Amino acid sequence: MRNIKFINFIWLILAWLFIFSCDTKIGQTKVPVFDGQRAYEYLEKQVSFGPRVPGSENAARCREYFISFFDSLGISSDTMQFIHNSKQSGKPITMINVIASFDPDDKNISKRYLLAAHYDSRPRAEYDANPDKREDWIDGANDGASGVAVLMELANLFVSQNPQIGIDLLLLDGEDFGRPGDLDEYFLGAKDYIKRDIKGKYEFAVVIDMIGDSDLKIYREEHSNKYSPEITDLIWNTAAKLGETVFVDSVKHAIYDDHLSFMTIGLQSAVIIDFDYKYWHTTHDNADKCSAASLESVGRVVTELMYGL
Ligand SMILES: [Zn+2]
Repeated sequence: MRNIKFINFIWLILAWLFIFSCDTKIGQTKVPVFDGQRAYEYLEKQVSFGPRVPGSENAARCREYFISFFDSLGISSDTMQFIHNSKQSGKPITMINVIASFDPDDKNISKRYLLAAHYDSRPRAEYDANPDKREDWIDGANDGASGVAVLMELANLFVSQNPQIGIDLLLLDGEDFGRPGDLDEYFLGAKDYIKRDIKGKYEFAVVIDMIGDSDLKIYREEHSNKYSPEITDLIWNTAAKLGETVFVDSVKHAIYDDHLSFMTIGLQSAVIIDFDYKYWHTTHDNADKCSAASLESVGRVVTELMYGL
């Protein structure tokens, strides 16, 4: 008799535990784990093609790699081509953005978000200490490949667990093509993208650039903070919640980047960028200056942000 009572008691406990665990699953969206090491491998792979200068063979091979990566995940991706007439050479250059879309046709999903990073690397190293190298192409491990590496790992997570929102991952060409002081030849991929009838398509955009530095500190960027405060607050509040101390909750630099192009069509946009990078626009912007831990810090914050929407 005592044993039967005890067994009944155990069953009661098990039933209660089962109900409780169901409740917590319904109440919370499980946030998948961002793998910084895997993201770092995506950074190295991009760098292995050589500098991804717009119009180059290296850029074309890297693009093929992106497309086969998205194919392997079963994600539809597309390319968007445009011609830029170079002021510098006087020649037309074909530039190509790559976009991968999650849940593009699901009628139940009404909200879409844009995550963007540039994959091109700079065709000159004007701040190199060695004057002979200042016209050399750069690896762009941090300035370019790091942001894309984070987006690629996010793609893995979005496939493993549906975030229940629409997301476009946009890999931009021609962000870093211009000469200093001449903004006409910067942000060329973003400038082309906003011409493609996207007004009103997204709730907000987040641009990720130069976040691979192994000595990472990310301040609020002035234009994002001033003109898109809601999304900027959301990013830094999420970082604080996670205890990601590489995100510093104060404004430091005012930076021209792809987010400003998105703002011109009224799209709330913030850039996540660490602009204190001593190898910026030098031939030393290599993979060994970047770390998996830095990619993971940024990846964790963006993952938490997107699954919390
Ligand atoms: Zn740059």
